[in-house]
Amino acid sequence: MRRVADAICAFCGCVCDDIDLAVEDNHIVEVKNACALGKAWFLSHHDGNRPACTIRGQPTSVEEGIDRAAQILTDARYPLVYGLSDTTCEAQRRAVAIADWIGGTVDTTTSVCHGPSGMAFQSVGEVTATLGEIRHRADLVIYWGGNPAESHPRHFTRYTLMPQGLFVPRGRKDRTCVVIDVRKTKSAKAADIFLPIKPRKDFEALWTLRALAKGLVLDAAGVEAETGVSLAAWQDLMARMKRARFGVLFFGMGLTMTRGKHLNSEALLALARDMNDFTRFVCKPVRGHGNVTGADNVLSWRTGYPFGVNLSRGYPRFNPGEYTATDILSRREADAALVISADPMANFCQPAREHLASIPYIALDPQDTATMRQAAVAFTPAPYGISAPGTVYRMDDVPLPLRPALQSPYPSDFEILSRLEDRIRQLI
Ligand code: SF4
Repeated sequence: MRRVADAICAFCGCVCDDIDLAVEDNHIVEVKNACALGKAWFLSHHDGNRPACTIRGQPTSVEEGIDRAAQILTDARYPLVYGLSDTTCEAQRRAVAIADWIGGTVDTTTSVCHGPSGMAFQSVGEVTATLGEIRHRADLVIYWGGNPAESHPRHFTRYTLMPQGLFVPRGRKDRTCVVIDVRKTKSAKAADIFLPIKPRKDFEALWTLRALAKGLVLDAAGVEAETGVSLAAWQDLMARMKRARFGVLFFGMGLTMTRGKHLNSEALLALARDMNDFTRFVCKPVRGHGNVTGADNVLSWRTGYPFGVNLSRGYPRFNPGEYTATDILSRREADAALVISADPMANFCQPAREHLASIPYIALDPQDTATMRQAAVAFTPAPYGISAPGTVYRMDDVPLPLRPALQSPYPSDFEILSRLEDRIRQLI
């Protein structure tokens, strides 16, 4: 038996880098320190029992698959490259290069989760900090529209509430946790204060706090009617925010994907900025997929924009709604696609799924998904983090090198996309 210390779990955006693995006969047999989701992720990968490549469901060589994929993408007039949140930054970089060579559109799963925040960052900016800084300093932790206790089980225990920090030495006792949400989730039950706001009223609630930060006088009945929470409760929260030595606002899809979308994110970012007139206050989106933050970073440094980028004119254009994958597919515009580590056939709307099924597309995924089963060309890559190396970004934009524990008979996403890019360059 071999032990791998400090392995990285890339299942969710927490990207825990303290996982201890036991490996026997090229299988992970024991996982220590991970949560239940992370354990399942490490133990569910079994390499070697699927073909490395299929064309229309028939097993073939990777070489033939790359040749066919390059033909499909170079023949297309409006190709789409989509996914990218569960692969390495090195592979993401190759995917953006492919989109550039074929004059396509590149979009990531950010467009269906924190896309509105990506837009808000461009207009308001982000007062930010690493999770390490938050762990050591934050004495007021606010979660807005998210349920990390279930979606990111170690967020509380590793970064925000439980650990002892340099300036919060008593751990949980030195911190106040506030959850603002439309329902009493498991996270809300773990909080000191829960504010149940009315559904679809996040913007009004955030604007109430912004007004209170500026000392404006508000009508109590109006505030409660709009937000579902009494003015006294908002005043109490604002007093705590001003008193805090270091406050943090974490926000999830309950904020970004409800009425108001990017305006909600903008309001929250602006509130965090406002609070710095009184104390140190930061904000952070809680990101889902293991390397969705890497996808945002790679697209931003390669094109200037974090998702939904069209490259057909030889320069990048950013327009969510026009260049985002669900919209392109629902309008039946794309005539070919390259889908990397995403499952749009399982989670896109019906018109988008129907159109994707009607065009030739290439898929890469270590898992046997609905998208893989209907692909014209399907590649099974080595799972990143488990048997493929590379770089991932934690949700706080800190890059971490993966420490794969296993050998894989499959090439990595990076290797497949590198060879695909080379073949495309020969054809164009
Ligand atoms: S919290 Fe996320 S990254 Fe950490 S062990 Fe659990 S699933 Fe993995």
